[in-house]
Amino acid sequence: MSKTLFEKIMDGEIPAEFVHQDEHCIAIKDINPTAPLHLLVIPRKPMPRLCDAVPEDQALLGHLLLVANQVAADAGYGEAFRLVINNGAAAGQSVFHLHLHVIAGRPLKWPPG
Ligand code: 5GP
Repeated sequence: MSKTLFEKIMDGEIPAEFVHQDEHCIAIKDINPTAPLHLLVIPRKPMPRLCDAVPEDQALLGHLLLVANQVAADAGYGEAFRLVINNGAAAGQSVFHLHLHVIAGRPLKWPPG
């Protein structure tokens, strides 16, 4: 199996701006930010899509949410941010290694496009 883009970033093969690292996940700045704050929280486990999660991933998925909370707060946006998971190409997913988008710092409309 070839490495995903995010595995290459975790292994230092592709540069990225890290804002968080722990044994289960990393958080980096998105290379093409859609808002003043646009981070990606990425599990070290290379699960392609959220729909590929299994019951054993329950704690990991909860951890990703808590890290999203933390990195948003650390950036000064703890009271108003949006989390997005694009699941599948038709939903806008382009990198097939699960990641949470943490977006904040501008008015965010609903429903999203
Ligand atoms: P998706 O479309 O899969 O939900 O989100 C993938 C995200 O990865 C996009 O927001 C895109 O800007 C970001 N991205 C793609 N390539 C790179 C890269 O090399 N470095 C970083 N930091 N982000 C990337």
